[in-house]
Amino acid sequence: MVKEIFAKTILNKHRRRDSWFLDDYSLNPYQFCDFNCIYCYIRGSKYGENIKEGLAVKINAPTLLEKELLRRAKRKEYGFIALSSATEPWMHVEEKYKLTRKCLEIIAKFRFPVHCLTKSTLILRDLDLLKEIDKNAILPQDLSKLKHCTLITFSLSTIDEKVAKIFEPNAPKPEERLEALQKIKEHGFYAGIAFIPVLPFISDSDEQLEEMIKVAKEFQADYVFVGALTLYGVGKEFYYKILEKHFPELLPKYRQLFKIFNQPSKAYQLRLEKKAKELCEKYGIKYKIW
Ligand code: SF4
Repeated sequence: MVKEIFAKTILNKHRRRDSWFLDDYSLNPYQFCDFNCIYCYIRGSKYGENIKEGLAVKINAPTLLEKELLRRAKRKEYGFIALSSATEPWMHVEEKYKLTRKCLEIIAKFRFPVHCLTKSTLILRDLDLLKEIDKNAILPQDLSKLKHCTLITFSLSTIDEKVAKIFEPNAPKPEERLEALQKIKEHGFYAGIAFIPVLPFISDSDEQLEEMIKVAKEFQADYVFVGALTLYGVGKEFYYKILEKHFPELLPKYRQLFKIFNQPSKAYQLRLEKKAKELCEKYGIKYKIW
């Protein structure tokens, strides 16, 4: 039984625009997530290990959003809304509740641009609304050259089905996500892939990165992002438990990599970025949105 809750607020305005995803706002119609990815960064916060069991539906999300966007639209405070930053907007329960769809109707009504961040094929259900937003929304002036008001980014941590089954147990398979991306591209959207997080010693080798970017090109992604894993709090211990079960030989390497910080070293991150940029150039695909 999914918990239904009343949220106090629904639209978070960022102090600064996110330089990677270009969003000025974020919107999370659900609390926690039933895709239950092992590496999910929300596990490290107060949400803890039980992100599936604690799933809650913010049933008043559309009502709150209508009020907040009415106010923002009057002041012409247009900006990309990230849907979502701390949950999966098209997770399994969305089939029943249609909260994300209702929020999209309101976003379309007030003409805000939207950046959809997803692992779900259910997004295909809402292409009608996403098209309307793409056509009619108003971009912030400094992003007017972007010319796209709907951005769709699929997230993948690996393209290996067996690894995905371990680390993303309830999400659609990588291949299904890639096929959904291709369909979305056929509908004329601007869309790409966030390989975030790549998993150290599991999906982050030069060869694996090359395979991932090659696949992104094959499935017509306009851009890719590549980012490192973040592990902290109870989320780190939870991830280590899974690692111990499936890749015990990697545990000492992880303990070393995350010994001091929540992320691998600067050198590791620079290596990822350099390699990703190089491969994007080789395969003729943008690194990041623009
Ligand atoms: S789909 Fe996203 S929000 Fe949901 S568990 Fe996975 S990483 Fe977390």
